[in-house]
Amino acid sequence: MALYVQKFGGSSVANIERIEQVADKVQRFHAEGHQLVVVLSAMSGETNRLLDLARQVSDKPSPREQDMLVSTGEQVTIALLAMALEKRGVPAISMAGWQVPICTDFEHGKARIHKIDAGHVVQQLNSGKIVVVAGFQGVSANNDITTLGRGGSDTTAVALAAVLKADECQIYTDVDGVYTTDPRVVAQARRLEQITFEEMLEMASLGSKILQIRAVEFAGKYGVPLRVLHSFQQGPGTLITMEQKSIMEQPIISGIAFNRDEAKLTIRGVPDTPGVASGILGPVSDANIEVDVIVQNVAEDNTTDLTFTVGRLDYEKALGILQQTGDTLGARQVSGTTHIAKVSIIGVGMRSHAGVASRMFAALAKENINIQMISTSEIKVSVVIDEKYTELAVRALHSEFGLDTPLVTGA
Ligand code: ADP
Ligand code: ASP
Ligand code: MG
Repeated sequence: MALYVQKFGGSSVANIERIEQVADKVQRFHAEGHQLVVVLSAMSGETNRLLDLARQVSDKPSPREQDMLVSTGEQVTIALLAMALEKRGVPAISMAGWQVPICTDFEHGKARIHKIDAGHVVQQLNSGKIVVVAGFQGVSANNDITTLGRGGSDTTAVALAAVLKADECQIYTDVDGVYTTDPRVVAQARRLEQITFEEMLEMASLGSKILQIRAVEFAGKYGVPLRVLHSFQQGPGTLITMEQKSIMEQPIISGIAFNRDEAKLTIRGVPDTPGVASGILGPVSDANIEVDVIVQNVAEDNTTDLTFTVGRLDYEKALGILQQTGDTLGARQVSGTTHIAKVSIIGVGMRSHAGVASRMFAALAKENINIQMISTSEIKVSVVIDEKYTELAVRALHSEFGLDTPLVTGA
């Protein structure tokens, strides 16, 4: 008998038929004698619909009320699944975040889990029930409902698996595992049997939306065995593993991620003095805007150009701040664009191979794709390019690094 935390995403509970299918699946696991905590998302599209309702009422809804609203999506699906299980004669109980309780900080919309008191859940499991928990939500010390950020149900599941010391946390979704890149963009993408936590964390941070970043961080920190699987198809899925093969056995590149959610800003011709970078970026981070890739150049006339990227939602705000800084510092020009994408190759194997970055740049040059910015770490290389070349770049790199599905040849 094992204890599993199973999370079903929005498309897996999109309508009553799917919820019935999830109930059938969960019932089978329960009949095998396993203890189950099931974490659900809202029906797909529901969280967006609720956010849109809020926007129809107010340009700036208070974060507390917005969380009160968007957390309702998950409450609908957990109640329906618990009913579907009861109908099958399977004992089940649904729990909202506050009933568990999943305690968070006060950061509405992107709250962090501080503590989960699992006593109540354990009691229900020991009485033979399936516990169905609302994903994405928690409760602050003020007794206010909080939410964990988009895609946050993944984090709910992993955090519960950590405190319950579950045998495995299973993330059921609409693909049968983690692929070399988004299979919606590259038809030849391949499912990975395994991926290391380190690589999965890079994939998630660099824009692959299959798992929420915090879920992967949690799993790594607490050693939660994590697997991504298809909700309604059989198969082993992808195991996110702590084990490292020897570096020499690793493929150079395990996956490719891309992100179209960033924007680029440039300030040119700033007199180059010590502290100029912090003078430019300080006001941006003071406004709580996260800066990602940064490139600085010093020209022969002793002026500096600095280019950096921020989340696209922060673009207007960052541009306003940069224009002010430009005036103060006597910059020649301030400009920006939202039409960029960041494409990244990821793999722990690149540690042992020289020339991975130049191979990437050559593959992009062959497609006539201009690289605007570059950033590297031990296990990834990212480039910023014109947004319109995103798919072309991802496909070119996918085949350059040998990730395309091998063609099945006749015997
Ligand atoms: P859920 O609603 O179940 O949480 P998501 O939409 O959040 O599902 O995540 C699943 C989607 O992630 C897939 O449909 C796929 O298009 C996308 N995706 C992006 N990158 C990858 C990848 N490397 N491997 C698999 N799926 C990916
Ligand atoms: N329903 C939330 C969202 O759409 C949380 C989740 O699905 O994980 O972001
Ligand atoms: Mg998701």
